[in-house]
Amino acid sequence: MFGFIKRRLGYKIMVAMLGIILLVLITEIYMRIYFGTKDRLEIASTISRELADSVYAGIKYPMELGDSEAIKIELTDIRKNAKDVEVFICNFDQEITYSTHEEKVKTKLAYSIQNKAALRTITETLKTGEVPEFDPRKPLEDIVSGRRYLIVIKPILNQKDCYHCHGSFRKVLGGLVVRYDAERTYAQVIAQRNRTFIIAVSLLPIAIALIYLMATRLVRRPVESLAEKAKKFAEGDMTVSVDIKTEDEIGILGNTFNYMVERVSSASKRLEEEIERKTALLNERTRLLGLLERANRDLRELDKLKSTFLANMSHELRTPMNAIIGYTELLLDGVDGPINDEQGKSLRRVVTNARHLLQLINDVLDISKIEAGKVELEIKEIDLKWLIDSITPTFEPLIKQRGLTLTATIDEGVPLVYGDEDRLKQVFINLISNAIKFTHQGGITISAKLSDRGIKAGETPIFAEICVEDTGIGIKEGDIERIFDKFVQVDLTTIRQYEGTGLGLSIVRGLISLHKGMIWVTSTYGKGSKFCFTLPLKKELLEKLAKPIVEPKMAEALAEYFGMPTETFLKSPELGGKPIRCWESVRCGQPSCPAYGTDESRCWLVLGTHCTGMKIAAYPEKVDFCKGCEVIKNIMLESERGDKLIKDESGTSAKKTILAIDDNPEAIDIMKKYLGDDYEVIGLLSSEKALEKAKEIKPLAITLDILMPKKDGWQVLKELKSAPETQDIPVIILSIVEEKKLGFSLGATEYVLKPVEKDVLLRKLRNLEKTTKVRRILIVDNDPDTVRLIGNVMKETGYEVTTAYNGKDAVKSIQDFRPDLIVLNLTMPEMGGSDVIEYLKTADGVRNIPLILLTQKDLSEKEIDDLNGMIQGILNKSVLAKEDLLKEIKETISKVSTG
Ligand code: ADP
Repeated sequence: MFGFIKRRLGYKIMVAMLGIILLVLITEIYMRIYFGTKDRLEIASTISRELADSVYAGIKYPMELGDSEAIKIELTDIRKNAKDVEVFICNFDQEITYSTHEEKVKTKLAYSIQNKAALRTITETLKTGEVPEFDPRKPLEDIVSGRRYLIVIKPILNQKDCYHCHGSFRKVLGGLVVRYDAERTYAQVIAQRNRTFIIAVSLLPIAIALIYLMATRLVRRPVESLAEKAKKFAEGDMTVSVDIKTEDEIGILGNTFNYMVERVSSASKRLEEEIERKTALLNERTRLLGLLERANRDLRELDKLKSTFLANMSHELRTPMNAIIGYTELLLDGVDGPINDEQGKSLRRVVTNARHLLQLINDVLDISKIEAGKVELEIKEIDLKWLIDSITPTFEPLIKQRGLTLTATIDEGVPLVYGDEDRLKQVFINLISNAIKFTHQGGITISAKLSDRGIKAGETPIFAEICVEDTGIGIKEGDIERIFDKFVQVDLTTIRQYEGTGLGLSIVRGLISLHKGMIWVTSTYGKGSKFCFTLPLKKELLEKLAKPIVEPKMAEALAEYFGMPTETFLKSPELGGKPIRCWESVRCGQPSCPAYGTDESRCWLVLGTHCTGMKIAAYPEKVDFCKGCEVIKNIMLESERGDKLIKDESGTSAKKTILAIDDNPEAIDIMKKYLGDDYEVIGLLSSEKALEKAKEIKPLAITLDILMPKKDGWQVLKELKSAPETQDIPVIILSIVEEKKLGFSLGATEYVLKPVEKDVLLRKLRNLEKTTKVRRILIVDNDPDTVRLIGNVMKETGYEVTTAYNGKDAVKSIQDFRPDLIVLNLTMPEMGGSDVIEYLKTADGVRNIPLILLTQKDLSEKEIDDLNGMIQGILNKSVLAKEDLLKEIKETISKVSTG
């Protein structure tokens, strides 16, 4: 309600002043009434007392004489002259004997005086003869009919002159009471109060107006002006200033404000200048950044060009080199007729030199890949002893030839290390070759022990330290620093003598650092050198990715598939008390392999046994390592059996077709020579026609080069995997480019780096053949539950499934879908299973599709004879429980696949 007051300073001042005036006024009125009444009452009391004294003096003599007439005259005079005064003279019994008012004579004093306190005081005075003390704050008052009277008492004492009448017996003979009418005194006080009030009220508006005017002029206006200027200043006007008219606080405030404006405006000016300068700098920086960005882009472009150039160059060099090696080895094998010893020697020199050249190219490519951060490590646990043992035999002839020794001592406590097996082999080969190359007598010692790198005393080691020591020529102290640099061969005089590229140690250092390791050398010139490096003992050091895990769901699927307890697939297999993590070494990579989760690492070998173990053979060098694995052992046995059967059959059955796509005719020629005995190889030089050709010939598999003009291998792979007619044909990439991840993600089944070895390729193709025997399954049954159950399990296992609920649909599916195997309910009503069999017997190209029959009854001998040759299994639905039925179907399919 009074909120408006808060908004204006003038109102506030006014309200404050008003409050003060009212306070003063109220105080004044109160004081006036209080002290006025007090003062007047005191005056009235004094008059009354003086009156009582003069009355007493006037009546004293007549009373001594007993002249009552003279007393009465005296009292009548008083009544005439002092209207407001009543005088009572009473005896000691308080009976009025004389009075200004005669009618009250002979009445009791109590009859005329109402106030009890006054009466008590009179009684006391008559008893003691003492004059009562007058208290101005509490005068003796009597109120009669609303009028206030002041009472004064004076005792009439018994003196000598009175003894003749009254004797000396009494001290007090009576009393003189004067009653004074105080009403007029009170009325005067009230009138004075009213006057004060009226004066104050009539002066108040004038006072308010005056205060308002003064507050406005002296305070409000200057403050408002200051506020207005401050607002403008806050809005950014730096030119404002306040007019100073006074020297009071407002004046000081104004002065301070002006000073502040001046300071801020000069600071702001400086700030603006600074901002301008900074903006200019920023613009310059942005310009420079732009330049830098462009330079970076150019550098990246250059780097890309360099990599492409290197890849192309090495492709261009490696392709003919591979051809040279391939053809020479074929000549050495006597494929094109016998050769004599001299020719043999020459050809072997050709192979040696070509391999050396190839090594140089590989080295250049390797170092550029390491530098570009493009080397992918396939990390697994490696037994150092096993690794060294697998390398040293290669050096045996050379060691023997040079009369040296090669020994390896691995400390007992060194556990398995983590790393990429192939890359670590490369490291060892490089170091051992150098040691042999630069040693003329004595020998080479390889040793391994636990390293104290990265740990405090007493902690478990996290690195192993491996050293290759020789008793060779040694390295000069000044050269030690440089030998790991690219193309560095320290002693130029020895280059011719020892050959080499100067790249080996750079590659080794790059590979070791990829393994989070360190490499260093100690050497005494003329006495020998010792190259040492570290390798991690913990996998976490190498990868941030989560470890591959065997999911319970996957283990269950595997258990069901192999008819083994789930635990078999959940527990980590062990060899010599140490875990074998085969799945860390080998990828599945099969398109039909179900992907569980997104983590690629889940598709490693053990998890990938869905793919019927085909991948085990893909890495023959890893088979040994995996032998301790119970699961693998079983799969291996199956795999080997399958191999044998295929080989046995290959003599009689028609050759399978392989489509080899490569822009280099020699590569195709070599493929033909490698695979010609077992497969019909159709070569295709132009990658643009790949899809068309694949659709036409429907090969067992396609081998695909990557670096091809016009359309590269990646494009071809994408096309093959997107066309329904070709997407199931397995593609083996044969390339010098190491882009396995990309290859597998685009759907390649295998990835083999060139130069390709004949055995490796043959083995891969055989494995492919096995698993591709049954890929599509048709399930025919009128019972939807059975169809769904079998269908789901087969799909989960990785097969392509189509279903039909009657014979008619089944025939249509056989024509469109071309299944590799049919699960058929023989006892369906209407157009039933027997019609489907009839169709299979008579139609073209479908007679050989294997059948698994589901029946409600046992078939007679004759019925079975009739179906001769087509049936792989007969399962009685009414006898078998669902789980058994599924198990039987799986086993039968597995038999068909591997048979
Ligand atoms: P290269 O192919 O020339 O051997 P490396 O990078 O492997 O290239 O080695 C670089 C140089 O380091 C060699 O040329 C040689 O001078 C020196 N070097 C390497 N290993 C040894 C060793 N075991 N003893 C003496 N010198 C060595």
